[in-house]
Amino acid sequence: MCGIIGYFGKEEALPILVNGLEALEYRGYDSAGVAVFLEGEVKVKKSVGKVEILKKSLKNNFCSGSHLGIGHTRWATHGIPNKSNAHPHSDCQGRIFVVHNGIIENYKELKSYLQKQGHNFKSETDTEVVPHLIENFLNSGKDFDIALFDTLRMIKGAYALVIIDKENPKILYAARLSSPLVIGVGKNENFLASDPSALIGKTKNVVYLNDGEIAKISQNDINIINLKKKKTPYEIVHLGWDLEQAQKGDFPHFMLKEIFEGPEVVRAAFRGRIKSKENLVKLGGLEKVADQLKEVKRLLILACGTSYYAGLVGEYLFEEISRLPTETHFASEFRYRDEPFDKNTAVIAISQSGETADTLAAIQKAKKHGLMTLGIVNTVGSTVARETDAGVYNHAGPEIGVASTKAFLSQLTVLIMMAVYLSKNKNSSKKLLEELEKIPKKIEIILAQSAKLEKLAEKYKNYKNFLFLGRRYNYPVALEGALKLKEISYIHAEGYGAGEMKHGPIAMITENFPTMAIIPQNSVSEKMISNLEEIKARKGPIFAITTEENKEISSLTKDIFYIPKTIEPLEPLLTIVPLQLFAYYIGTKKGFDVDKPRNLAKSVTVE
Ligand code: GLU
Repeated sequence: MCGIIGYFGKEEALPILVNGLEALEYRGYDSAGVAVFLEGEVKVKKSVGKVEILKKSLKNNFCSGSHLGIGHTRWATHGIPNKSNAHPHSDCQGRIFVVHNGIIENYKELKSYLQKQGHNFKSETDTEVVPHLIENFLNSGKDFDIALFDTLRMIKGAYALVIIDKENPKILYAARLSSPLVIGVGKNENFLASDPSALIGKTKNVVYLNDGEIAKISQNDINIINLKKKKTPYEIVHLGWDLEQAQKGDFPHFMLKEIFEGPEVVRAAFRGRIKSKENLVKLGGLEKVADQLKEVKRLLILACGTSYYAGLVGEYLFEEISRLPTETHFASEFRYRDEPFDKNTAVIAISQSGETADTLAAIQKAKKHGLMTLGIVNTVGSTVARETDAGVYNHAGPEIGVASTKAFLSQLTVLIMMAVYLSKNKNSSKKLLEELEKIPKKIEIILAQSAKLEKLAEKYKNYKNFLFLGRRYNYPVALEGALKLKEISYIHAEGYGAGEMKHGPIAMITENFPTMAIIPQNSVSEKMISNLEEIKARKGPIFAITTEENKEISSLTKDIFYIPKTIEPLEPLLTIVPLQLFAYYIGTKKGFDVDKPRNLAKSVTVE
């Protein structure tokens, strides 16, 4: 989950490393460090806390003139966030410098073996076994390449590794297994990063390393070898992301900027893909499996976190629009279930980063059972995109805020289009597609009223608990709205299907336990009004997200936020936006860093 950056090229290395770490900080931010090579020496600097603190400590032209270096921003898995546990880690002699993303699962036995051999460990991390193991093989007379191969063969778990060997400063080494790593291809310079967003503004050409591959990178050359020591060909992928997409611009936070990108994100997802007049959805990424898709009788959607909630909306969409039985599962649960499969089931994996470890494992399981796998992914060329048989990109641009907002909207848009694509009765989709085209303008109307939400956030910010209720399409929205509030403001919030409320949660309701009701006028709003009456009878404060057509709600509460009307399957695209803003305003009013919420990291690449 951490951020890794490596540089070898014509420019000054340190500023590139620090900028890269700043861009990657959303992946982990408990400590940071760099190692740079200069005149036969490798200098290391580490600090606890955010990259800013590391930056401040790099004074007095620290290592100016260096053109080769590595950097890391950590999300601790083994050992508390302190200076000695921060990366890069080194061997006893200070020859090998390693940054690592992931977990070395067998580190305990390797560590005790190495300690018996006389190796002196300076940290509590799992990572530190890597440089010592390489050193151990070097001590037995092997050359560096072989020592690295043998080390990789011994370690179990997940890793993205970038390594400097002080004795051979003409090469930067990298290796990957189950943790993402990408090479940025430049002119007279090459980069390594755990995620392409660190490369924006430097290069748009990237090579994704595959599992089991080792890269040897120099200023002008890239060599990729697999664990069988065979040279493997690679493909350069061109990223369409721009620098300004990865900068805050005039917004105080990425999260707010990304919420405000909602209208454009929805447009970008359907641009060139729908023709409402002809009831047509064209998804180029699914063309190659179009015939096979006609045979599909059941769908399984697999995802984690916010993507899972998008998947839950997908369940309703595929059932109603495509008439396909659909189930959505947490990828982390699916991977350990033992259920019977039938061949006409297709899997849809949803992941913003395309690197989520649990989702990848779920895809592997589905493939093992011979199921067709499809991906809904934002990051072009990422592992989910490569591992699935076919898929659809979100085109949402880089999402930097740790709490996902715009990616959710784009996932919903893609799911809606996929549902129409898989529908056998295309005629019924005309209205839906016409309405989809109107959604961006309707999101703009919501965003223009953000000041109202800010006021309501002020009123509600001191409550300690929240219940989020919705029904049908807005049931997953209630879950996602509650997740946003938890992530950003650390307020306990639970999402429930409104009909379930009386089966338990109602016991919690008092005047100190408010309910966020997502209740646009629709086929289930009447039912939900009754649920809200029950809350009012118990003095529970109610905040409602609704449409002008809903007249009854005003007898239940004064705290109402009106959104424009749309058809039911598209409602989540509108109802989630005020919930995202509500969480954002409460989080910022409480003084929290909403772009980097505590304990969280973007792109969860560990199990
Ligand atoms: N497992 C390593 C550690 O705890 C790497 C964690 C990370 O990916 O940041 O240091």
